Amino acid sequence: METMPEEMPAAVAVPERYLDGRPVYRARTAPEGLATRSQLRAQGLSAAGLTPVAWLHLMLHHQYVHLYEVSAARPVRPLTARQREVLEHGRWIQRSVPCRGAGCATRVERWEVRCDPCAAAKRVADYRREQEAEAALSEQLDSDRAAAARWAAEVLADPDATILDTETTGLYDAYAVQLAVLDVPGDRLLLDTLLHPGEPIPTDATRIHGIEDQDVADAPRLADLWPQLVEALDGKRLVIYNRAFDMEILRNEARRLPGERAGAALAWLAGLRVECAMERYAEWWGQWSDYWGSYTWQRLDGPHGAAGDCRMVVTRLREMAATARRNDPDAVTAGTMVG
Ligand SMILES: [Zn+2]
Repeated sequence: METMPEEMPAAVAVPERYLDGRPVYRARTAPEGLATRSQLRAQGLSAAGLTPVAWLHLMLHHQYVHLYEVSAARPVRPLTARQREVLEHGRWIQRSVPCRGAGCATRVERWEVRCDPCAAAKRVADYRREQEAEAALSEQLDSDRAAAARWAAEVLADPDATILDTETTGLYDAYAVQLAVLDVPGDRLLLDTLLHPGEPIPTDATRIHGIEDQDVADAPRLADLWPQLVEALDGKRLVIYNRAFDMEILRNEARRLPGERAGAALAWLAGLRVECAMERYAEWWGQWSDYWGSYTWQRLDGPHGAAGDCRMVVTRLREMAATARRNDPDAVTAGTMVG
């Protein structure tokens, strides 16, 4: 009996087709000894320099990937220290930013802005700048206060110094219901009178000064007393606590003088030498407002009667003249009186 030695063919992998002259296998039907790039990687081998010998059809992804001969693959060489360094440096350059410190070549993480030495230097510089600004402001406050105190002393010593105050029908478009002029050196009231404003006194105004319509029913109009006002103030040095307000009241009164008297009165008012005690008192008080960039006005806290308020201005002038230095204990005492 003749038997032909038949060699059972080893399970031959059958390609599903050819692509670019290379067989295409489905997953799990590929011949042993072939592997994809990532399969090589997993075994610590590299596909670098190898020619692909077949395709693997990844059905699920509708993708074809190259297959390489595992036996031809070389082990992946670990990076040398130098290579690793270069790689790390490249990554660092990509994610870092230059330090914002002037002339600094250091790179920092994006969120750090400055390197540690530059950040420390900036903190020191910021602090120093703050200190300098504070010192400058403090110096300014001292010198403003001293100047205001000198001014107050000068007014108190001036033989021509007069103080004027009015109570009014309101804050805007208002008229006077009371007026006083104080001769400072003689401590003498040159004028002290209620005035008929020519219109009803709003209750809001009455709440401040207590003057009602019936109080001024028989009072003169300022128009009638204008000559006396001129006589009291002409050639004098006039000081008003809130000059802008009282001068506006006087201008309102001047405007309603009859005929040519109005223009003449306005011109006379414009020619008066008037200083504002409220502004100088604020400088002396020294409550600086960064927001407004100016000194905060302080209330006169007078009795809200024209004559009494004139005398309160004198009191304030004396306070100012007496304490030219800031942080003077006397100044604190004076301060609590007004606050
Ligand atoms: Zn830096």
